[in-house]
Amino acid sequence: MIRLVIFTVFLALCLTPLRLPGGETDITLLFTGDVTFANHFLNHVKKKYDFPFALIPWFKQADISVINLEDPLTNATEPAEKPYVFKAPPYYIEILKRGGVDLVSLANNHIYDYGEAGLLETIELLEHAGIKYIGAGRNIKQARKPAVFDISGVKFGFLAYYGLKAHSESHPATETQAGTALRKLKYIREDVKKLRKKVDFVTVVFHWGLEKENYPQDDQIRFAHRVIDYGADLIVGHHPHVLQGVEKYKQGIIVYSLGNFIFGGHSRTYYQTVVLKVNVPPEHPDRWNIEFIPIEVNHWQPRVANSAEADSILNRIKKYSDVFEHTPFD
Ligand SMILES: [Zn+2]
Repeated sequence: MIRLVIFTVFLALCLTPLRLPGGETDITLLFTGDVTFANHFLNHVKKKYDFPFALIPWFKQADISVINLEDPLTNATEPAEKPYVFKAPPYYIEILKRGGVDLVSLANNHIYDYGEAGLLETIELLEHAGIKYIGAGRNIKQARKPAVFDISGVKFGFLAYYGLKAHSESHPATETQAGTALRKLKYIREDVKKLRKKVDFVTVVFHWGLEKENYPQDDQIRFAHRVIDYGADLIVGHHPHVLQGVEKYKQGIIVYSLGNFIFGGHSRTYYQTVVLKVNVPPEHPDRWNIEFIPIEVNHWQPRVANSAEADSILNRIKKYSDVFEHTPFD
């Protein structure tokens, strides 16, 4: 039942103004990789809040748009002791609001770069803006709490996890301390099974894998299969900064890494990536499918890639998927 539609991506290029590709009656979910508004982004974009999403107005039209927010939005001044720390000013919440972001994953290795103060300020800004978040919280209970959306009577649940244990990049939440939700099978089994009973579609977001690697590790693949077995429909990954392949396993789909989206953490002004789009027919939520929207990012401003580039981006994902027994391309 799950099929991959990539041709609609090309169709979208012919339409002006650009419309969200895919069936118009479907519920649409969008997922991106890493977003950080720090450093180079801050220097270039300054207070042009509309700039980052200006060329992808369809991002706002999707029913649920999800990003990985990989920096705190904070005025906190005490950085964590680690090689790379990111933060962006609190006023950048405005970019998320204007861009149409509905849900952010905070389960990553930079959300705690300015300690508890940075994380708590970010959470408060999101709550004020009415943007949901997953994967981090004021305590472990909140960090493991799913975000749930009801779109046209179909319920969608989201969970996010990062890190296998505490280390310099990972600050797991506890009963009494703020932080992220660890990627523990015990947590995930409990959380997914509980959520599965309440919603029609379960997405689990993992910030994982090796940086700069186009292929996941064997233990990630085994882990992902377990999580699908617990009842997840879709697993979405990021952290390697580059794209990886997509696997079909039983009734589920695993997108191992979406790479960078708007990544101000380094000075590179041009790169290619994708936005994952999930189409869910409201009458038959089980008949969902995915597609990849090929993206070029120029000075931290994403737009749909031109057709020649689009082809090469999609072919790369296909190539990285060759290692899996089953893929949506079969
Ligand atoms: Zn990361």
